[in-house]
Amino acid sequence: MNAPFDPKLAANLAGAERALARFRDGPVLHRIAGERVPSASGETFASLDPTTNAEQATVAAGGAAEIDRAARAAAAAFPAWRNVPGAKRRKILHAIADAIEARAEEIALVESSDTGQPIRYMAKAALRGAENFRFFADRAPEAGNGLSLPDTDHLNYTLRQPIGPVGVITPWNTPFMLSTWKIAPALAAGCTVVHKPAEWSPLSATILHEIMDEKIRAHGLPAGVVNCVQGLGENAGKALTEHPAIKAIAFVGETTTGQHIMAQGAPTLKRVHFELGGKNPVIVFDDADLDRALDAVLFMIYSLNGERCTSSSRALVQRSIYDAFAAKAAERVRRIRVGHPLDPATELGPLIHPRHAEKVLSYPALAAAEGARVACGGGRALSGEGNYVEPTLYLDAASSMRIAQEEIFGPVLTMIPFEDEADAIRIANDVRYGLAGYLWTRDVGRAHRVARDLEAGMIWVNSENVRYLPTPFGGVKSSGIGRDGGDYSFDFYMETKNVAIAFGSHAVPRIGA
Ligand code: NAD
Repeated sequence: MNAPFDPKLAANLAGAERALARFRDGPVLHRIAGERVPSASGETFASLDPTTNAEQATVAAGGAAEIDRAARAAAAAFPAWRNVPGAKRRKILHAIADAIEARAEEIALVESSDTGQPIRYMAKAALRGAENFRFFADRAPEAGNGLSLPDTDHLNYTLRQPIGPVGVITPWNTPFMLSTWKIAPALAAGCTVVHKPAEWSPLSATILHEIMDEKIRAHGLPAGVVNCVQGLGENAGKALTEHPAIKAIAFVGETTTGQHIMAQGAPTLKRVHFELGGKNPVIVFDDADLDRALDAVLFMIYSLNGERCTSSSRALVQRSIYDAFAAKAAERVRRIRVGHPLDPATELGPLIHPRHAEKVLSYPALAAAEGARVACGGGRALSGEGNYVEPTLYLDAASSMRIAQEEIFGPVLTMIPFEDEADAIRIANDVRYGLAGYLWTRDVGRAHRVARDLEAGMIWVNSENVRYLPTPFGGVKSSGIGRDGGDYSFDFYMETKNVAIAFGSHAVPRIGA
């Protein structure tokens, strides 16, 4: 690990200490209807420092009582928030973005300390959180715009109206950014929110809710437009999905959790939006710009600790270039800088939690048993405490192997050879997931064909995962239900209502006359 006397690391450690101080004097509380409240049960859970696994903060563990209180607050605030003119909502959401930008450094330090994801990426993620608010702020005035469809004797028009109070359940990877990605469009649409952050990374939500609550109330609106209940998935999360006042659940997390949420929400007919897991292929054809393709393959799996839903966890490389490409990849993977997440030089930090590290470290034995080659990595990195694992590269894998089928969600790349275009598509689609697909080729016709045939919600050609926010984001198969981005987000958070008004000439049929 980098020595702590490195001046940049030392400055970040001191900054993080200041930013985390607020979480150290007593449990981190819920924020319900503008009040910071403990759990009625008094129960708490520990948030761990991924560099040591020492307790970093104690957090109130909410349950059905806190969810009920928050859902009632969101329902009470809904009429006032729904009726705020779009232009004013736009102003408030921009004010939230301004405040996020002003505190971006603090947010990044807290986020990096809480998740172990390197500060070099968390600084950008905090700013992307502000951008999410700005993007949906500008769309708020038009969120309610519907269509006008004149018929011969009726004028039909559609209204788009916010669905009501919604639940937002977020995962532990890039939690601040992902929370803003869900909450900003909900607010822009006119919905009120109850948010349940992930129990492994609960801290940055506290700052987000503090900012949102302050800016919303500064405009004379009631408390309760946004509420945050901390807690475990099986308690607070479950209660949120079951609450009758909550009209929809926006969820980001694992596929199996999505299945639970669907069942839990069935009795109250919850509308659901799921962003779930992925096992995304990046297909490298032999005519590609191989240097850039290699950069993209490595960046998309080893940045953010590999804890990224759209990561390039499977590299499908054409047989004719496989050996050379694999050798270059291995050379680069060995040079990835593993270190303290607050060190700006660090490329790979500790994984979020000891349980997650154990899961990631269980795969090398499986891979070897199934006949794949562990080209590098596979063990713990850096001696001592913390959840540091080596960046790992599996070579000569077959699609049927567990390392090629399961979402490992760590810095682990599985490389599989393929023969031709048809073989590449077959292997790419041979998983239950369908979130993102990447392909590298100079053949335009092939790019179109493969993009058409890949079973995924998003395709990038000769690029890594560059997001343009008006475009749809989401997955097919076991990777999700629904799309985010642009107006797609509003389709989820809003109801569409048709109004038909007859022209005077319309003849109403008569019975009993
Ligand atoms: P997870 O499913 O374990 O937890 C996500 C959230 O769900 C947490 O807040 C958790 O407390 C809550 N939860 C757990 N059980 C619940 C229940 N029964 N009812 C209601 N809520 C419950 O996921 P995770 O491990 O935190 O996150 C990693 C996963 O998220 C990966 O599979 C990753 O691919 C996925 N992810 C997907 C996207 C995407 O855009 N598709 C983005 C980020 C992460």
